[in-house]
Amino acid sequence: MNSPIVDLRSDTVTKPTPAMRRAMYEAEVGDDVYREDPTVNRLQERAAEIFDRDAALYVPSGTMGNQTAIKVLTRPGQEVICEERAHIYNFEMGMMAAFSGVLPRTICAEDGILNWDLIAPNVRPRHDHRTRTGLIELENTSNLAGGSVYPPQVAEDIVERAHVAGLPVHLDGARIFNASVALGRWVAELTKNFDSVMFCLSKGLGAPVGSLLVGSKEFIEEARVVRKMMGGGMRQAGILAAAGLVALEESPKRLHVDHENAKLLADGLAEIPGIKIDSAKVVTNILFFDVTGTGFSAPEVSQSLKARNIWANPYNARSIRMVTHQDVDRAGCERALQVLREIVGVPRKAAAN
Ligand SMILES: *Cc1c(COP(=O)(O)O)cnc(C)c1O
Repeated sequence: MNSPIVDLRSDTVTKPTPAMRRAMYEAEVGDDVYREDPTVNRLQERAAEIFDRDAALYVPSGTMGNQTAIKVLTRPGQEVICEERAHIYNFEMGMMAAFSGVLPRTICAEDGILNWDLIAPNVRPRHDHRTRTGLIELENTSNLAGGSVYPPQVAEDIVERAHVAGLPVHLDGARIFNASVALGRWVAELTKNFDSVMFCLSKGLGAPVGSLLVGSKEFIEEARVVRKMMGGGMRQAGILAAAGLVALEESPKRLHVDHENAKLLADGLAEIPGIKIDSAKVVTNILFFDVTGTGFSAPEVSQSLKARNIWANPYNARSIRMVTHQDVDRAGCERALQVLREIVGVPRKAAAN
């Protein structure tokens, strides 16, 4: 009767694999504030190598990585240009204002994908009357836009023109490996001219904790100071970095499975009466669908799903987000679809229990 839980709330819910736990158990450690943790050092060296950069820095969370980059690359009183659904604007607790003293200038772009024509009118160079632009930030893949991916030449063009305008560009690449798999391009290619890149080990890559910043040696040295300011100087962090190394080496090659499962969900959802989703736009591991046509609100559908061991969060009154990852398989996704068909297939009153 009790089917196992299918947790589609986020790719952050993954549990460490047996290989990760073994690596954690065996990890060589030291004090990383003294730069003496060999496992953290190896993780940073591998990240720098994979992204073809000078250096990398291990941070406890993606938020700390993004906010460290913003602090290093801006001055108080400046603006940060980002898309209106950006994680740095919506989910980082106002930290860019609280810590760096900067304001977001948000732009609405189709599928969360900015381009230079949208950005250019918002760039304010040195000016006697207007707040100055300090930084441009892109998010790839875009979480709230349903895991959408930047066409490589669009991102390259933004970075190139930003540099001509004298502006640095930070990439929130929490899921850059998903973009890499979707496009069939190396992460180093997709990120090459950004001034700083943050990516997460603890999302689709499946590590329990941690993100990395990559960039030039000078940038990373500054970022190290800011990380310490924020209390992110960890000691025997090799215990965690060991799992991160396994995630970095092993997980990218299985992300295509998550994308296939998301596509299966999207195609199935598109066929359920009352549910609206453009499944052609589902290209990575995140999807949003609108349930208003079913007569139920998103929180109602989410609750009914939960009662049947399918977990998915409502994003607002109308839509629900689902995210695939290593701890849900194809059978779980098929069951999620079956349960949804049953929930929205019954008249409103009968399903309200
Ligand atoms: C998850 C996420 C982050 C970082 O989140 P943390 O929970 O702080 O690790 C940053 N950007 C995006 C787009 C994300 O989805």
